[in-house]
Amino acid sequence: MRLKSLEINGFKSFAKKTSLEFLSPVVSVVGPNGSGKSNVLESFRFVLGEQSMKSMRGKSGTDLIFKGSKNLPKGTRAVVTIFFDNKDKVFKLENESGENINLNYDEISISREVYADGLNKYILNGSEVRLKDINNLLASVNIGSSGHHIISQGEADRILNASPKDRREMIEDALGLKIYQYKIKEAERKLDRTTNNMKEVSLIRKEITPHLNFLKRQVEKFEKAKEMKIDLSNLYREYLKKESVYLENQKSALNSEKNKIQIEMADIAGKISSIEDAGTIQENPKNEELRNLDRKISEIRSLKGELDRKLGRIEGMIEMEERRAQKAPQQAHVVSHEEVLKIVSEVNNYIDEALDKDSLAEVSAILSRIKIILNKFNQKPEQLENTSNSEEIDNLKNTQAGILTEIQNIQNEEDKINTQAVNLRREIDSENEETRIKEREKFTYRVKQQELSASLNIILVKEENLSRRSEAFENEIKEGSALIGVDVLSYKNFEISGEINEFAQDEQKRKIERIKIKLEDAGLGGGSEILKEYNEVADREKFLMKEMEDLAVSIESLRKLMIDLKEKIDISFKEGIKKINTEFQEFFSLMFGGGSAFLAVVAEQKRKKKSKNGEEINEEEMEDDEEENENGIVFEHGIEINVSLPHKKVKELHALSGGERSLTSIALLFSMSQVNPPPFLVLDETDAALDESNSRKYGDMLEKLSKRSQLIVITHNRETMSRAGVLYGVTIGADGASKLLSIKFDEAQAIAK
Ligand code: ATP
Repeated sequence: MRLKSLEINGFKSFAKKTSLEFLSPVVSVVGPNGSGKSNVLESFRFVLGEQSMKSMRGKSGTDLIFKGSKNLPKGTRAVVTIFFDNKDKVFKLENESGENINLNYDEISISREVYADGLNKYILNGSEVRLKDINNLLASVNIGSSGHHIISQGEADRILNASPKDRREMIEDALGLKIYQYKIKEAERKLDRTTNNMKEVSLIRKEITPHLNFLKRQVEKFEKAKEMKIDLSNLYREYLKKESVYLENQKSALNSEKNKIQIEMADIAGKISSIEDAGTIQENPKNEELRNLDRKISEIRSLKGELDRKLGRIEGMIEMEERRAQKAPQQAHVVSHEEVLKIVSEVNNYIDEALDKDSLAEVSAILSRIKIILNKFNQKPEQLENTSNSEEIDNLKNTQAGILTEIQNIQNEEDKINTQAVNLRREIDSENEETRIKEREKFTYRVKQQELSASLNIILVKEENLSRRSEAFENEIKEGSALIGVDVLSYKNFEISGEINEFAQDEQKRKIERIKIKLEDAGLGGGSEILKEYNEVADREKFLMKEMEDLAVSIESLRKLMIDLKEKIDISFKEGIKKINTEFQEFFSLMFGGGSAFLAVVAEQKRKKKSKNGEEINEEEMEDDEEENENGIVFEHGIEINVSLPHKKVKELHALSGGERSLTSIALLFSMSQVNPPPFLVLDETDAALDESNSRKYGDMLEKLSKRSQLIVITHNRETMSRAGVLYGVTIGADGASKLLSIKFDEAQAIAK
């Protein structure tokens, strides 16, 4: 493998396409200050993928494009191409999966283009690639991005000024360990991605797990529901068969009972109407007759009473007249007050009697009696005695006899009526008894009728209930077929045994209802869809589980890879340091004619493991070159340079002279580069600070170096120029564009000044 040429076009001051051929192991570039020599070095950096604008003395991509001058227009892009001979096929490039991409080219060309808008393009043998690919490709031939193969002006002692840690990185780079670092970084990224994937997968699993469990329960429910359906079907058919028989039996039993009652009712209704047809029990007309008789009897009795009183009065008068007839002759007629009162009372009584009479004849008879009394009172007692006393008694006795006869007649009349009334009453009584018997009979029938009608009502209610039950039965068939299917309709063929009783039927129905509720809860609808979904989700879960396993395996292998790589770096680093030290010692003593120089790995305390806020820093967060001791203090590994000049006690780097520092750093850089020699080294005036004798030693080192790496040396140093096989002179014209021409040693010396 060999660096063949470099083509610069539109890059910085190189306005036009300019080509450098590296036909000799040492190629020197000379030219006056400001002619564009360093731009050549930067074009190397650029094409090799440098990302730091600062290290190319620019702020943005535009600064890298030719800016134009009075005579030349500004460029639109800068292109630099580097060509390598690859006959020995040492260039390697890996794809994402770590497989080698076929790079079966005899020549490798790498181009980088930058446009005014800052767009960068990387082209490998004519195909656009990524920066990453360029980095990988270059790392495979020991060209690291740290640029140890490009040592720019004044940068030679950068390695001396660098911190032990930065120094370590430079050395790792020089040792070609960068590629492993890349691989570790890559593995880390993959690990991150894989870990994230795993998190995502486990998140998805977490998300689907409850759903899966739910579906599983549903499927189980569905299975159970299937069994329940079979049970239910049997229960249903048994129940329906029994119920149909039961309904039939009940119906005919009720019908015959109803018929019986209706016949009985018709019979009783007939009996009642025949009793009623025999005549309604009306008021007996004899009662009125009896009441008339009673009225007559009481009239007779009052008449009798009157006659009795009349008789009494007459008898009293007779007695008085008879007593007077006995006393009359011996006494003058004196009328006593008592007599007057008696006469007055007598007259009053007659008047009262007269007032009661209807006929005038009777009244006049009474009036004539009153006249007699009054006249008698007015006559002389003798006269009275003589003429009317006995007459009076006779009259009175006649009246008395008349009254007695009257009383007797009335009495007879009363007796007659009484006998009539007694007979009539007896007749009525016997007639009433018959009616009562009939009434009682009718009442008994009525009661019976009511009983029957109550029984009939009960039967009607029962019929209603039965028809409701029969409706429920029909509904049950419908519901059953909807729930289980037409299977239910085959209940007619179900064989039953034993008695059918209502209670047992109701119990069975409740059982059916309970199963139905359970079935409803199980949500039988869409069972097959749920099963399908369950299978899908279960498959997905299985897939995710497998994915988790795969991810875990790949995490494990990535971790192992990282450990292996770190180990590899560690071993290579230690071996590399050893080799560098051998070379360093050799170059150093060659330069200084003795003394010693070596690199030492040191551990510098970096920080306490515990951070300020007290959080633990876990292993993963620690960097590769860090280590933790038993006190929890984190160390980082760095490189220290130890030198000892011959015949001098000075050991500290900062105490060295400028030239000594230069030589030391050059010796170190050269020894570093020689462990894994890069295909080429670009040196920009690393020899600027050397005097003549040191320049010679430097020239010797260049020759030694050029055996393993091609050298491109930018220099003003005569000695250095003399070691070059090819010399290029750079000039800048009035048009502001750098020009390059191959020159002879003498010309070079002239140009360099
Ligand atoms: P010295 O020997 O003093 O280090 P040198 O030969 O290395 O000088 P450079 O520093 O490479 O010279 O070149 C600087 C020249 O390039 C300057 O003249 C500068 O104006 C020019 N230059 C830099 N960038 C551009 C650009 N984008 N377009 C045109 N000219 C540019």
